[in-house]
Amino acid sequence: MTELARQNRTTAGACPLCGAEALTGLCLPGARLAASDLARDLTIAVCPACGFVFQAGADMPDYAEFIRHAYETWDGQTLFNFPRRSQDNVAAAEVIARHSKPQARVLEIGSNQGDILALVKELLPQASILGVDPAAHDKLPVPTVRAFFTPELFSSRFDTVILKQVLEHFADPRPMLAGARAVLEDGGLLYLDVPNLERILKGRTDAFLLEHAAYYSLATLRATLSGFEIIEAQEAGSLRVAARKLPGAAGTGFLPPADGPQQARQAFDGLARLGRGRERGKALLAEHAKAGGRVLFFGAYNCFRALYRELSPLLGNSPCVVADDAMQGEREPVFGLPRVNGPERGDLALLCSNNAEVLDRMWERTANAGSGFSVLRPWSTLLCADGTMSDLGA
Ligand SMILES: [Zn+2]
Repeated sequence: MTELARQNRTTAGACPLCGAEALTGLCLPGARLAASDLARDLTIAVCPACGFVFQAGADMPDYAEFIRHAYETWDGQTLFNFPRRSQDNVAAAEVIARHSKPQARVLEIGSNQGDILALVKELLPQASILGVDPAAHDKLPVPTVRAFFTPELFSSRFDTVILKQVLEHFADPRPMLAGARAVLEDGGLLYLDVPNLERILKGRTDAFLLEHAAYYSLATLRATLSGFEIIEAQEAGSLRVAARKLPGAAGTGFLPPADGPQQARQAFDGLARLGRGRERGKALLAEHAKAGGRVLFFGAYNCFRALYRELSPLLGNSPCVVADDAMQGEREPVFGLPRVNGPERGDLALLCSNNAEVLDRMWERTANAGSGFSVLRPWSTLLCADGTMSDLGA
């Protein structure tokens, strides 16, 4: 980082991993949650030394209090059939089963209602499965210890431990990784997945959320996995990693990647472009609405809800509709918006997902579906009705 670039950025606290002074990469005032109307400023920090990207202040008590309150109103559990066979869940279960023993004792930390455990059990019928999750739900379909995970909860060890979409919720992943390691047999399998930072930045995806405290590239994740050997890594919309526990001491806990400063530069650049794309995209939506145009929210899950909460004040009284072809959509709250089958002439269709792969599929379906309407991929690209395409972050 040059001195000039450094001067233009505000400090954002110490890096949770290496302790260096981190700098602000993107600030989103009044960011919204998907599950409630609570709002809070969201500052994405970048460590210029090791390249770690994290939410500034996510290690503070007021953040913990805010997010605890947010999760008390979390309603994701009831929306989907069990087990939820999303492409991401199926891919995760396949990686876990491929590297686990047929009779593995499997523990999932943060198991929610147990979708992944159920999918693993289908692939490994002789495995025993157990979840641990504090969510207070009745009649969970898989055996679940209702608690926040600590290694002391378990007197025996497991052959496979799963941390699916867990690490991104912690400012510092090391206590959780150490805990997972403590309940694993030597040679046992740790499976984890997190949103893939490189894909988020490259696609300038709307994936910087109040709910997420940390963002990982494979290099950063690798650097936190001391005491493990990575045996498979998939760099899709999610970063999926299978690692074996090495016997012996866990090591230092964090070895900064050699290309940390280069990763930091890429993160600053990607976040700046995302910030510009966000402002430009929101302005385009407001213009479209002011001219009386209809806005179609394409997709009806969490990303839609967070975007709608943020954007609806900009849209005034212009007509808004929602389209979603997923069967579970019927159970999803859509703020009373009318449901339609797809975009019509004159619409501006906003693609609502924060997963780059899902966005790719949505883009294929809408951008190639016909003409006469515009498609906005937040926050990278606008395809106009006349077929011209513009880069929102340029
Ligand atoms: Zn750092």
